[in-house]
Amino acid sequence: MSHIIHRNLRHAPPVAVSAEGMLVRDSRGSTYIDASGGAAVSSLGHAHPAVIEAMHRQIDTIAYAHTAFFTTEVAEELAARLVAGAPQGLSEVYFVSGGSEAMETAMKLARQYAVESGETQRSVFIARRQSYHGNTLGALAVGGNEWRRKPFAPLLMDVPRVAPCYEYRDRKPGQTQGDYTASLLQELEGAILDAGPENVIAFCAEPVVGATGGAIPPTPGYFRGVRAICDKYGVLLLADEVMCGMGRTGSMYSIEQDGVAPDIVTVAKGLGAGYQPIGAVLAQGWLVDRLRRGSGIFQHGHTYIGHPVAAAAALAVQKVIEQEDLLAAVRMRGASMMAMLHNAFGRNEHVGDIRGRGLLLALELVQDRETKQPFSPERRLHAAIKSQAMAHGLMVYPMGGTIDGQHGDHILLAPPFIATDADLAEIVSRLVDAVNAALRV
Ligand code: PLP
Repeated sequence: MSHIIHRNLRHAPPVAVSAEGMLVRDSRGSTYIDASGGAAVSSLGHAHPAVIEAMHRQIDTIAYAHTAFFTTEVAEELAARLVAGAPQGLSEVYFVSGGSEAMETAMKLARQYAVESGETQRSVFIARRQSYHGNTLGALAVGGNEWRRKPFAPLLMDVPRVAPCYEYRDRKPGQTQGDYTASLLQELEGAILDAGPENVIAFCAEPVVGATGGAIPPTPGYFRGVRAICDKYGVLLLADEVMCGMGRTGSMYSIEQDGVAPDIVTVAKGLGAGYQPIGAVLAQGWLVDRLRRGSGIFQHGHTYIGHPVAAAAALAVQKVIEQEDLLAAVRMRGASMMAMLHNAFGRNEHVGDIRGRGLLLALELVQDRETKQPFSPERRLHAAIKSQAMAHGLMVYPMGGTIDGQHGDHILLAPPFIATDADLAEIVSRLVDAVNAALRV
């Protein structure tokens, strides 16, 4: 009998007892290949000795120091590393304990920047319909996942939303990719004008959409266009890299690949890689300088920010990524996994789209490939695939949801960066069995 409020209130999940590398074991003796890194978290796999050793060393030195009194060497070193690899100008770091907290922090930083710039009327965030930015009330308000928002809707601030960059579903037959991208940018500009550009604080977007829709990269030029529009109207660009950042797509920050430097970036998941709960907000130097020269204080804070053991784990993760050349590995393995998925599912009549960037990949399941008609929500195909995958010793991250009134089933794959081609082949083979079994039910 469990006393924990589990996600599913009727069924407790299996009990995980140990994990190493790509594998997780449960108390019933089953072993699972971790093909999703939990929820795109475990980028180095489990039980990496260098990270464990760094955490031990930190606990022995100083396990906790409240930021009202102290900073620590380890947090400073981590911040310096994150900045060194960040897009141009992102020179300031604020540590938090996870992705939702990072988004709340980023939104408050953006708002305080407006206030200290004498623009107190700025109060609007614009976001995309297909998005997930976290489960706390501010982050939930910005995100577009209708199912997650619904019970809490009266508590959430109003957020104008624009179309996501979702080529598979939204690019019309005969429309060029350039015209499609231009139409999205036009819609964003329209939303800013509708809200009144002087009222808008920031535009929030995931460079690669993760948990609502599954590994959807932008079209070429989309984020350059977004950057130009934000600049035109003095709107901040807030990139949520909680899932797609920290090497997951083959560069430390995914938006680097789109040639754009945002004003604020959030990261989490892969930052601590599952060894510790940690997230971070990176901001442009000029933005934080406005506060520094103004009130001199960022009106925010949590008890566990900059936690030394979390910072030690994240710093060790950064060093391993560099020493083991894992960004190159992600690019290489990402390409081979994409090829394997096309091989295995390219002719499957129920796989409508195979997409992603680096080692953030997804399948979109459809009833009919020609019409792209999704399966009915009642069928809960994504959940059936997850159960079948677990039965086949495989962890994948399934998603079902309604986006723009349309249901979709997606399977997200985010294997650890240490995966070999043989690991990936085994993952794809088990996934084929799981998908076929779920489709037969
Ligand atoms: N932002 C994005 C893009 C995410 O994918 C998530 C989690 O999936 C979050 C924010 C929220 O992060 P957390 O679950 O750590 O609060």
